[in-house]
Amino acid sequence: MLTVIGGGIIGLFTAWRIVRKRQCEVVIVDAPSDLPPATLASAAMLAPGAEGHLCAEALYRLGKESLLLYPYMLQELEQETGERVELTSAGTLLVAEGRGEVEWLRSRRDELSQLGEPYERLSGGEAREREPALASTIVEALHIPGDRTLSLPTLLQALRLALSKYQVKFLQERVTGLVEEAQVVIATGAWSAPLQGPQLFPNQGVVVELSHQRAVRHMIRSRHVYICPKGDGTMRIGASADYLGCDLRPRLGSAREIVNRAWEILPGIDQETFLALHVGLRAEGESCLPIVRRAKRVYWAVGFGRSGVLLAPWCGERIANDRDFI
Ligand SMILES: Cc1cc2nc3c(=O)[nH]c(=O)nc-3n(C[C@H](O)[C@H](O)[C@H](O)COP(=O)(O)OP(=O)(O)OC[C@H]3O[C@@H](n4cnc5c(N)ncnc54)[C@H](O)[C@@H]3O)c2cc1C
Repeated sequence: MLTVIGGGIIGLFTAWRIVRKRQCEVVIVDAPSDLPPATLASAAMLAPGAEGHLCAEALYRLGKESLLLYPYMLQELEQETGERVELTSAGTLLVAEGRGEVEWLRSRRDELSQLGEPYERLSGGEAREREPALASTIVEALHIPGDRTLSLPTLLQALRLALSKYQVKFLQERVTGLVEEAQVVIATGAWSAPLQGPQLFPNQGVVVELSHQRAVRHMIRSRHVYICPKGDGTMRIGASADYLGCDLRPRLGSAREIVNRAWEILPGIDQETFLALHVGLRAEGESCLPIVRRAKRVYWAVGFGRSGVLLAPWCGERIANDRDFI
């Protein structure tokens, strides 16, 4: 029997890939709500292009590999559950707000060229033709057509349904130690320290959820903020990034900054309804790459930082295909 500790996107995705490939008995143990998953705060952007500069080229390549897996896996998920999880396809608009940000946009363009990520240069007027709600202060933009997003609640629901069809059991319990001979995948996000895992640095992120009247098609990013519209009538704008240990209390200033910055590039958000404020801890390792490694019968799958939703298919496949493990 295999135990997966952690019921965030990494635990659920990995358990699903394992159980459908290896037909083994799987139990998912997830802590009660005092350790909330970062997954629920995520904006669920599958955007290796827009995130490409944030870290190493290796992370960008992993992101591209994982994004390519998504359409096939979502199709398999739909066949197994009848739940359709749609990938939106309009891509990201990186926008320069005012002349002062043109230099920043130029450096982003150079990075995209170096990575080989396709993009298109747009004037402010051309950007507004594609996304009429953009502010008149946007002077230049880059369109990255390859980036995607999805509705995370729909994906999580489909994964849970698929897992229950494979008779996977769910236990609500906080694991405090590992039994020596147990075969385990540890996907505990930022709370891995009590299980003697690799050193991680929790990074608090705040995201604001609003209604979305379907007026915005692209994910939009400025230097300071992103706006991610969903096909389910919501949008997420974010995000702060603060090293506050495991503190999950959101700072008012974080939310205020996000909303102000988003309003500057998309004034129409004033008309949207406020739905929720989400807070999560991104688990960052010493490098920006995720830690997916095995020590005998224990697989660590942690340290996904800003990209856990994007990288879940890659992680699930990697562990499910490791014949020395399972
Ligand atoms: C504000 C914000 C925005 C983000 N936006 C994006 C984005 O747009 N795209 C993207 O790809 N990524 C994004 N991320 C990152 C992404 O959310 C994470 O990388 C991903 O959710 C990590 O998933 P996980 O399963 O590893 O961890 P988590 O989702 O944190 O899940 C870990 C689970 O393990 C459980 N657990 C912990 N310890 C124990 C224990 N001892 N016993 C039992 N259970 C335990 C917890 O209760 C939790 O349910 C964002 C993150 C934040 C905070």
